[in-house]
Amino acid sequence: MEKILYRSTNRKSDLVTFKEAVLKGQPSDYGLFIPLEIPSIKKDEIDSFKNKQYYEIAFTVLSKFLKDDINPEDLFKIVKNSYNFEVPLAKIEGNLYLLYLDRGPTFSFKDFAARFMAGIMEYYAKQDNLKLTVLVATSGDTGGAIANAFYEKENIKVVVIFPKDEITEIQRKQMTTLGENIISIALKGKFDDCQNLVKIAFNDPDLKNLTSANSINIARLLPQSTYYFYAFSRLNYEKVCFSVPSGNFGNLMGGVIAKKMGLPVEKFIVAVNENDEFPNFLKTGIYNPIIPPKKCISNAMNVGHPSNLARLIDLYGGWIYDERNKDGKIIKYGILKEKPDMESLKNDFISFSITDEEVAETIKKYYLKYKTLLDPHGAVGICAYEKANLNYPVISIETAHPGKFPEVIEKILGFEPEIPKDLKNLISKKEKYTILENSYKELKDFLLDLK
Ligand SMILES: *Cc1c(COP(=O)(O)O)cnc(C)c1O
Repeated sequence: MEKILYRSTNRKSDLVTFKEAVLKGQPSDYGLFIPLEIPSIKKDEIDSFKNKQYYEIAFTVLSKFLKDDINPEDLFKIVKNSYNFEVPLAKIEGNLYLLYLDRGPTFSFKDFAARFMAGIMEYYAKQDNLKLTVLVATSGDTGGAIANAFYEKENIKVVVIFPKDEITEIQRKQMTTLGENIISIALKGKFDDCQNLVKIAFNDPDLKNLTSANSINIARLLPQSTYYFYAFSRLNYEKVCFSVPSGNFGNLMGGVIAKKMGLPVEKFIVAVNENDEFPNFLKTGIYNPIIPPKKCISNAMNVGHPSNLARLIDLYGGWIYDERNKDGKIIKYGILKEKPDMESLKNDFISFSITDEEVAETIKKYYLKYKTLLDPHGAVGICAYEKANLNYPVISIETAHPGKFPEVIEKILGFEPEIPKDLKNLISKKEKYTILENSYKELKDFLLDLK
């Protein structure tokens, strides 16, 4: 047994096992967990993926990390159960392909991470006979993916807190119509208030076995490397590039891990919306986070200081962190303490900021020319692909179903996109949620009453 251990990007916390990293979520020095070493996959093993199903490829890739942490039969079950939906890869034109990660139960690529993490947490909760409460604040989409992924998982309750008047009806119904172990709270406040109350709860010693499911959890990162191997295996090329619509860079980091494991990726196109801190950084070596972020129609990518940037910079030899006061409150964002190897960053990444106007033009063009209906996030990826103009095959990632954005699409194309049946069915489902004031005492009493 030689388990892979995990260290913190802030270099001040001890090494932990995968299980500890999953249950802890974040190291106590406020860094992010990252594997001490990245295992490799041999070329002939990658070649053998050609004839394999998605879940088989995902199992092989994840086994490289987890074979000494979780017994293979259990890992196989978790993976097979997580990836029980289609992952189409379509040729659009010439050397451009589109990888559809929007066919999971909540029609967003977040399902790939959330479903695996839910399986892993259930496994550990049962192993130690723990009753866990997963507490998440959501501004919309993450809550739905988490709620759906944890639905009916044993030994786990999920409490999602969303800003009462700031999410769409569909987003709300993806959380509030499930029932069973999924409990929803509409907070009379903003997303920041939700996040703030959740943070206080995590530091409250009266509340036991609270777990976070946020996007920086290592159990959400590792599974996001699997679709890169899958996409590569469906094509016949020596090397490919990926165009990745990016916000917090979790998707991108999955790809970077795949590349470090041995997947022949020539370049990643880091496609961002008008929040252009990363392309500027690549160009100048100076990092200026955008706080608060700009609001664009690709709203899941409205991030001006990507949380996973700390992992990316770390893997390229640098160190970036947020300065905090002794209560843990951030007082200065994104301090670049050690510069990464800019040469190799520029070698492996090319990055473009895409305006909302360009997104609209891209959606129009690809619909009229190729009968391909893109969502606003996928369109950022495609537009960046056009700007990159690379001499390699490019796989661009579609991260959400266009049917989730009927108003945006209607405005651009003049008609409503087809809405997936399961999304439509939500409309008539019965909702259950509790409305709370923006007060920690109310939340705490609510959580204590759950027991
Ligand atoms: C979360 C999300 C993104 C951004 O992914 P990151 O991993 O945060 O970079 C892009 N598109 C959609 C639809 C998303 O939900």
